[in-house]
Amino acid sequence: MANKKRAFITGISGQDGSYLTELLLDKGYEVAGLVRRNAALDLGNINEIKDEVKVYYGDLHSPESIALALLDFKPDEIYNLAALSSPLGSFSDKLGAIMVTGVGALHVFERAKRVVPDAKIYQASTSEMFGVPKQVPQNEDTPFNPANPYAAAKEFAHRMATIARNDRKEPQFISCGILFNHESPRRGLNFVTRKITAAVAVIKNNRKEGIPLNEIGEPIVKNGKVKLGDLDAKRDWGYAPDYVELMWMVLQQDKADDFVAATGEMHTVGEFADEAFSVVGLNWKDYVETDPHFVPPVQTGPLTGDASKAKKVLGWEPKTKFKDLVRIMVHADLAKFS
Ligand code: NAP
Repeated sequence: MANKKRAFITGISGQDGSYLTELLLDKGYEVAGLVRRNAALDLGNINEIKDEVKVYYGDLHSPESIALALLDFKPDEIYNLAALSSPLGSFSDKLGAIMVTGVGALHVFERAKRVVPDAKIYQASTSEMFGVPKQVPQNEDTPFNPANPYAAAKEFAHRMATIARNDRKEPQFISCGILFNHESPRRGLNFVTRKITAAVAVIKNNRKEGIPLNEIGEPIVKNGKVKLGDLDAKRDWGYAPDYVELMWMVLQQDKADDFVAATGEMHTVGEFADEAFSVVGLNWKDYVETDPHFVPPVQTGPLTGDASKAKKVLGWEPKTKFKDLVRIMVHADLAKFS
């Protein structure tokens, strides 16, 4: 029997890392991932499947930890998903954003080049790099115009990936997925979609204790209301399990390249809240209030993607529609916060 393919995932315990792990295990891969030591007792989204993956303790801050893991595991494919992934949060930790999300990615590329030069690398780029875009919808040729430190760090990593790919002497196979927002019941509670669906569950279930906290340490539902930022912000929201399929497809190509993944449908935060509250028969306007704490100092958008290249070259298309995504998230939170 042929040897199993080996995939190494940074950020394996995050939303995408966990869905990607499940996908690759299903495809017969051996999977390993980099996990920060402070997560030793709680592996987050991969707790249920931790016996099926090899865990390496390390940090994108530490090139040594990346090199040692690569040396031991010798992956065929590397998925660099680790990041401080909150655009809003990056305003209060600009250096963290640059060092982990930007320089950390470069550490992965550089260590891989020395230790496993034939490994194919996927870099998790983001639609946030388009920032305040010059065209709508955005595709692989749309100029980047980042509007927050997270996006600027991701653009740095994206540019370094392109430079490594085009290196005439030692080209590296590094492909970037420019992914538009994708959500799921595993999305962090510091993201607006999940905050809304968790709030719907807390309110509908009349939960009084153990209410999850928002990013400023307050219960997400206080006095019967959930606080959100800009209700008119427009985003293109897909379902995370659909998007990790694209990550895998990108690395099955013979040539490294960049691909946009998006639904092509744009909705406001208000529309998301309307849809989520209506799943349980409530009117969102009775439960949502705005708070400037959750409005970024520099606004991004409108963001919506044109994924026709991914469809043509990879045969990739998002399967899950907006209403179904909202329904999946609300029902998962109704069970979680019962
Ligand atoms: P996520 O749930 O926030 O996961 C991020 C992961 O990175 C977590 O496992 C986290 O570990 C890890 N991490 C953070 N700092 C680290 C460090 N210093 N060293 C090692 N690991 C570290 O994010 P996601 O939604 O799965 O997204 C995956 C990737 O895609 C990210 O790079 C994100 O920026 C990018 N992306 C996401 C979207 C989206 O809509 N979800 C769109 C475009 C691009 P801890 O649990 O220990 O914090």
